[in-house]
Amino acid sequence: MQTMQITEIGIELGRCQCSECGMVYYVPVSWRKQRNKDHATFYCPNGHGQYIPAKSDADLLKEQLNNVKA
Ligand SMILES: [Zn+2]
Repeated sequence: MQTMQITEIGIELGRCQCSECGMVYYVPVSWRKQRNKDHATFYCPNGHGQYIPAKSDADLLKEQLNNVKA
């Protein structure tokens, strides 16, 4: 996740991009990490529903690696 630091307000922001319309927006990293855990639906500025899948790409890769080892 690309991030940027807004030192004036002391919040680290993470980059999101809507899978529907391509809108790029920034959200607080702490909020984004919580969505990584709870997979709750949220919305891009144009109102498209977004969620973070239960298994991240990293999780899926780990599973594939474990399958290769087995
Ligand atoms: Zn959108």
